[in-house]
Amino acid sequence: MKLVNTRNTNQSVEFSEAILSPMGENGGLFAPLNLPLLDESFWQDASTLTYKKFALKIIEKFEFDTPLSIFENALEVYDEFDEGEATHIVKQNDRLYINELWHGKTRAFKDMALAPFAKVVAQLAEQKKERYLVICATSGDTGPATLSAFGGVKNTKVFCLYPAGKTSEVQRLQMVTAAGKNVKSLGIVGNFDDAQRELKTLLSSKEFATKLAKFGYKLNAANSVNFGRILFQILYHAWASVKLGRVDIIVPSGNFGDALGAFYAKKMGANIDKIFIASNANNVLTDFFKNGIYDVRNRKLKLTMSPAMDILVSSNIERLLFGLFGDKRTAELMANLKQEKFYELTDEEKAVLKETFEADFCDDDECAEAIKKTANSGRLIDPHTATCFKMVSRAQNTCVITSTAHWVKFTPSMVKAIKDSGCEDEFSQMHALSHEFGERLPKQITDLFEADLLHEDVVEVSQVEEKILNFVK
Ligand SMILES: *Cc1c(COP(=O)(O)O)cnc(C)c1O
Repeated sequence: MKLVNTRNTNQSVEFSEAILSPMGENGGLFAPLNLPLLDESFWQDASTLTYKKFALKIIEKFEFDTPLSIFENALEVYDEFDEGEATHIVKQNDRLYINELWHGKTRAFKDMALAPFAKVVAQLAEQKKERYLVICATSGDTGPATLSAFGGVKNTKVFCLYPAGKTSEVQRLQMVTAAGKNVKSLGIVGNFDDAQRELKTLLSSKEFATKLAKFGYKLNAANSVNFGRILFQILYHAWASVKLGRVDIIVPSGNFGDALGAFYAKKMGANIDKIFIASNANNVLTDFFKNGIYDVRNRKLKLTMSPAMDILVSSNIERLLFGLFGDKRTAELMANLKQEKFYELTDEEKAVLKETFEADFCDDDECAEAIKKTANSGRLIDPHTATCFKMVSRAQNTCVITSTAHWVKFTPSMVKAIKDSGCEDEFSQMHALSHEFGERLPKQITDLFEADLLHEDVVEVSQVEEKILNFVK
C-alpha cells in the first residue's frame, strides 16, 4: 500500500519515503487512502498473541514497501519497557480500565511510537546509505522521547525545539540533560504552536534542505505529522479492544495523533464504539467535535497543568478530515483555517463526526479534582490522563482511559491537587508521594536531578535555523 497526500491524492508515496520525508506537497500530510479492514477471525485469533506479534500482524496487513523484518526488529524495543510489556491495561472497576502507555524510558506514551519509529528510520537510513537530521517540536513529551529513541543511533542527528518555561521541570530536565554526540535540544521564546509552525516551515523549505545537503544530511521530523508515528499508535488501541471486547475509548488529546490512532483502529475493524476526545482549557477540539467549528480566531493559548495538551493547531485533525471527507474538502478546509483561522463543517459532515466522536474538556480545577478523587481510590494519575474522567459516565461499553504519562513528570501539580499545597522541593515531594502510594520511582527520572545540564540555551524562533545548521556542520 502507498500513502497519499491529504490535500491531493494524486501525490502518493511509499511508506519508506513517507517516514523519511514526512511532509506532502502544499502542506498536506501522508495518510492511507483506505485502511485495511480485518475480519472477525483476525480479531478472534489476535487474543492469543503477544503484543509484539499482534503489532506485526497488523502492520503486515498494510502491505507497505518496507520489509516486515525491519518492523520486527523495531518492535523489539518494547522488551525494554517495564516487565517487557508495551502497555499495561489495569482495571479501575468493572466498567473502567486504564490503558497505561507510559512504561517506556521517558514515561510518556510518546515512547510507544517513537522508540520503534527510531529503529525503523535507522534501518532505512542504513539501507539507503543516507544520514538524517531528525527535528521535533515538543509540548513536553515528544522531545524527551525523540532524544531518547535516537540518542546514539547511527546515521542520525536529533534536534528538538521546546517552548522554554512552558513544560514541566522533569520534561525540561529530560531535554537539557540529554547526553550523546548526536542530540541537541533548544528552548525557544514562544509556545508549542510557534515551535510546530517553525518545524513545518523548515520541513517545507527547499533552501533549508539544500543547506543541510551540503553537510550530508536529509531532513526528517519525529512529530506526529510523520505517518510513521501514527502507525504505532493504532496498535495499542486495537489491543485494548482485543483484550476487553467492545470498548469506548477516551483519549486526552492535543495534536490528535493518539486519538487518530484509535480512529484508524476502529476503521480497521477493531471492536471500538465511541471515541471520546478529552481536552484541557485549550478546548478547541471540544468545540470542533461538538459544533463542527474549528476556530482559533479569538483564542490565546492558555498554560495549564497538562502542558502536553497546550495546543491550538492540532495537526492530525487534517488526517481525520481526509479520512471522512476526502482530499478536496480537506484542502478547502485547511486553506480556510490558514486564511481565516476558522472553518465550519456542513450539517451532514457534523453528523458523520458525531457517529464516532464525543468531546469535552476539563479546566485545571476539574483536573485537580479528578486527580484527588482517583488518589483517594489508591491510584495516582497524571494531569493529562485526569482530563478523561469527566466523560466516563457517558460510555455505553467497557470504558478505556488512555493514560498518557506517569504522574512523576508533574509532581508539583500532583501535590497541589492532592494536598492542596505548594511544592518547594520537587525531588523530595516525588519521593514522599511514591512512598505514600507504595510505588517505585523510575530511575530514569530520579537520575535527572543529578545529571549535567548540557543544553540550556533559549533563543528566538528567528535564530532556530542558524542553530540547527551549526549543530549539523
Ligand atoms: C503528547 C501528549 C498528549 C497529546 O497527544 P496527541 O497525540 O498530541 O493528541 C497527551 N498527554 C500526554 C502526556 C502527552 O505527552
